[in-house]
Formats: sequence, C-alpha cells, structure tokens
Amino acid sequence: MNSVQDIWKTVLKILSEQLTPTAITTWFSDCQPEDFDNMCLIIRTPSDFKKKIISDRFLPQIKSILSDLFAGDVDVLILAGDEEYLKDSPDGDILPEMAGYTFDNFIVGNSNKFAHAAAISVAENPGKNYNPLFIYGNSGLGKTHLLLAIGHYIQEHYPEKKIAYIKGDDFTNKLVKAIKEGTTEEFRSEYRHVDLLLVDDIQFIAGKQSTQIEFFHTFNYIYELGNQIVITSDRPPMEMSLLDDRLRTRFEGGLMADIAPPDLETRMAIARNKASRLGLLLPDEIIEYIASTVKANVRQLEGVIKRLTAYKEILNDEITKESVNRAIEDVIRTGPEIPNPDLIIRETAKYYSLKPEDLKGNNRSKNPAMARQISMYLMRQLTNLSLNEIGKELGRNHTTALSSIRKIEDLMRTDPDLTIVIRDITSNITTSSESI
Ligand code: ADP
Ligand code: MG
Repeated sequence: MNSVQDIWKTVLKILSEQLTPTAITTWFSDCQPEDFDNMCLIIRTPSDFKKKIISDRFLPQIKSILSDLFAGDVDVLILAGDEEYLKDSPDGDILPEMAGYTFDNFIVGNSNKFAHAAAISVAENPGKNYNPLFIYGNSGLGKTHLLLAIGHYIQEHYPEKKIAYIKGDDFTNKLVKAIKEGTTEEFRSEYRHVDLLLVDDIQFIAGKQSTQIEFFHTFNYIYELGNQIVITSDRPPMEMSLLDDRLRTRFEGGLMADIAPPDLETRMAIARNKASRLGLLLPDEIIEYIASTVKANVRQLEGVIKRLTAYKEILNDEITKESVNRAIEDVIRTGPEIPNPDLIIRETAKYYSLKPEDLKGNNRSKNPAMARQISMYLMRQLTNLSLNEIGKELGRNHTTALSSIRKIEDLMRTDPDLTIVIRDITSNITTSSESI
C-alpha cells in the first residue's frame, strides 16, 4: 500500500462492509484523500456539513480501520471546502523572530558550549541523537536563540520537514480555545504531525492539569514516530515541582543541557559581535567596561549595545563611559524589576485558567478568590503600590487588600504547595515582562 489514494480505497472497501451503500454514496462519494503523513490521513469533503457528519458519526470507525491497517494509532483530519491544512504555518507564526537567531550568530563560551553542541547535534540529525533535547537556564541567556537556531537549520537543510514552534503558555491558551470551539482534532494535528516540535518556556504548563495531559500525549505521539522535540525551560525538570511525573520522566529521558551566565570573555565576545552587527565600532576598553558591568543577562547586554547605537545615530554622541552608563541605567531601569499590576493580574489569572476580569469582578467562587488574593500578595511583593492602589486594581478597598495579603502569608507558612505556586507565577511574570 503506498499512495494516499490506495489507502483511502482500502478504507472505503472495509467501510462498505460496515455501512449501507446509501451511507457510503451520501457521505463518501465526493471525499478526496489528500495526504498521508506522519500517521495522519487528511481527507477533504466539499462542505462543512459533511465534515461535521463524518467527524461525528464515522471518525472512530475510520480511525480503527486505519489503526488495524497500520498496526498503530492513526489520526484523521477532515477538511471542508478549501479549508487549509495548516501544514507549514499554524498561525503564520512559526519560527518567530528567527532571522537573527542562528548558530552563526551565537557566541560560544564555557557557559553554553554544551547546550550549543547538543543543539548542533540535534539540528544535524533530528530525531536520531537526543530526544527530547531539554535546554534550561535563567532568562536572557540564549535558550530561545538556540531553540530557533535548530529550527532555522532544519528549515534550511531539510526543507521538507514540518516544524512547529509554540510557547508553553500559548499551548495552554490554544488548547483551551480549541476545547471551547470543538476543534481539538485540528489542534492535535497541528502539533502532532510535525517532524520537529519546538516548545519554548515549557515551565508555563506546569501545574495545569489538562494542558499537561494533552502535552504528554503530544509528546508521546511525536516521540514514538521518531520525530524530534526540543524544549526550553527556566529550570530543570526536577525543580518544576508541579510538573506531572510522567512528563518529568519523559523530559529526563532525553538530554538535558543547561546554560549558565557567560564569563567575562564570552560577554565581551557577545558585545563585540552585537555591536559589529549593528555597524557600531566600539573601542576595546568600552567593550570591556560594558561586559564587566552587565553580567547576568545577555538580553541586557544586547540592550545596552542597541541603545548606544541609537545614541550615536540620533544624538550623534561620541561613545564615552558616561553614555555607556546612561545606556546601562536605561536598560536596568526598564528591565523586569517592577512589573505592572495588569501583568500580575493577567499572569495570576492565566495560571488558574481564569480571565483577568474574573479576578476584578465579583465572582465569589473559590478559585477566583484565591487567585485574587494571590495577585494582591504579588503586587505587594513585586511593586511599590500602596494597599489602597492594590485594592483598587481589583475593585476592592485597602482593608480587603491587607487581609488578602495576610491570608496568603499565613497560608504559605503551612502549605508548601502554595509557596511553589507563588514562585511559579512570579517567574512567569518576570519572564513575560522581559519578553515585551
Ligand atoms: P532566553 O530564551 O534564555 O531568555 P534569548 O535566547 O531570548 O534568552 O536571548 C536573549 C538575547 O540574547 C537574544 O537577543 C539572543 O540573541 C542574545 N543571546 C543570548 N546568548 C547569546 C550568545 N551566546 N550569542 C549571541 N547572542 C546571544
Ligand atoms: Mg526565551
């Protein structure tokens, strides 16, 4: 059995032993098999109505015929009319910002050479060497860069391979939306039938039960077919306390590579590289000064260089230690230290699969109440807002704000899980405020 036509013919033959001739002609005579790829059969019908009937009534039968034929799980995707199969571009957004994120532009030093070598090895032989590749490390150290460099390399060297890129929190959001809209089949085939799945910031799915289960199945599906998965996270699996044990085992079964903050020499090389790419020639002593001042985060290092370029272009400034100091202050000041209250509310809500409005409104069910108290606690911790202002953000007064914060503080003393929840939300807040 080779072509998709043959496969479909065989399916129809077996189906006609199970259904009446009228059913076969009514629903299947104008179905066209379109593609069979990565254990997924794609069928096109002329109308939404037929798609719905076939999906509702016959899908399990078709799947079970296929699974017998192929001795394994086969998915079926039904398309209506000229509905597109999101083959290359789930939302038009695969491999975002990938232009600059290549291996060529990645400076290798002691702190990242292991992760870099692992990434190269996976890019050269996807699905063969290390699966999954799990890259972890603090924010701003090049995880997304390496992840996308793998995507870039594979896109260039194996153009036939299908690639999907998704961020951990988008996986959750899209799944929730798909469940609501009854399009989970489409959601699944979008992320399962790929040769390379790139998952950025997986820590966002920890603690979310239904997302973790779905991701577990997605993972297994891809893995069983010998396709490649690359994951990044801000911490290793064993430190993700709310991670489903089955996922943890899967992650730890691959190769784990951490990225540490770069040493001075590497920071200088990165600064020099970024500057020259922006057409900015900096004297060695300025490079060294920048690299010895900005230590923990490559994104900030890059931010300083970008600002210096702007000063030079816009203000025609000579670059001196003073202008460097100004650039550093700028970067640190607009850095992630003080997130705004909206972000705190949004991330807390997201963590509990709620909407920000659920926290602001009068919904008294247990979940929003807890999430609301946590968001007030986090505002107290992470911002300079007064109790009055904190209360106002959520449509409450300062007394409520105070008692909410106290309640969370009390609970944290007795409930270790809550401490983890708070830590995870905090990390989500800082990660998203940095990527704006
Ligand atoms: P993370 O995903 O770990 O938070 P990113 O991959 O987004 O970090 O990196 C932050 C910025 O720093 C990006 O612009 C990236 O290109 C740059 N960067 C990080 N590490 C390196 C490196 N080793 N060489 C060149 N650029 C780097
Ligand atoms: Mg990142």
